[in-house]
Amino acid sequence: MGFSRRDMLAKLTASAGGLLLGGFACKSANAQGYNDTPMLPGGRWRVHDSKRPQPTVVTPGKMSREGSMSAPSDAKVLFDGTGLSQWTSGGGEAKWVATSASFGPEKGSGDLQTRDHFGDCQLHIEFMEPNPGSGTDQGRGNSGIYFFGLYEVQVLDCYENKTYADGSTGALYGQTPPLANACRKPGEWQTYDIVFVAPRFKDGALVAPAIVTVFLNGVLVQHATPMIGASAHRAVGKYSPHAEKGPINLQDHGNPVRYRNAWIREIGPYSDISTRKMSDIG
Ligand code: MG
Repeated sequence: MGFSRRDMLAKLTASAGGLLLGGFACKSANAQGYNDTPMLPGGRWRVHDSKRPQPTVVTPGKMSREGSMSAPSDAKVLFDGTGLSQWTSGGGEAKWVATSASFGPEKGSGDLQTRDHFGDCQLHIEFMEPNPGSGTDQGRGNSGIYFFGLYEVQVLDCYENKTYADGSTGALYGQTPPLANACRKPGEWQTYDIVFVAPRFKDGALVAPAIVTVFLNGVLVQHATPMIGASAHRAVGKYSPHAEKGPINLQDHGNPVRYRNAWIREIGPYSDISTRKMSDIG
């Protein structure tokens, strides 16, 4: 009655196969990244560590209607559909292509920089990943927002696309993964609201790191996160002294990401949190 020895063996083999497959799938899901890169400060994770946990997927709220909020009255508008006059490609005319709806890189157009320079600021910018998406890992909808041209908040299509955690959308690239994966689908507009507090240098030495807060589609993904240094690939970022203000760069990583509705507000010195101490309270 019941199972023959042969049936039992077949079942055991199937379960062992399932376990092995499960183990393999698990390993495979975390295959992106590296295990030979330098350790980040704190000694827990390597740069782009393949074993670093993936951010939890969070579905952002739905927009009540198509469209986005325009710039507040004191903002400097960086793009509102009327051209790229606020941007430059290496000092010359902006090489990215703009329509009345959006702008983005074309093949080989290189990074784009703001003509004006900024220090502490609040940046709003919207982006859309290519639809249909193509490529995987870091090759899928890669771009980025570089404050001072140095400190990257990653832009990537991480909707059902795995990569190493510190390289995913909302990561401070190569340093700190986002608190959640709040990506929308390719072809849907997404919003970034970023508060960037610039690093402080005195007599050629760092006295306070950059501090970054990021909302992706209304979801907090970086909460006053200090940066280790400038963004770097397969290396621990370092600081090099620079001016109090710098350009904001948008990365051309060879993928046709589109941007729209970009505006920025400079933050006055009264709200400088980079050097805040307990003794400042009261
Ligand atoms: Mg990037």
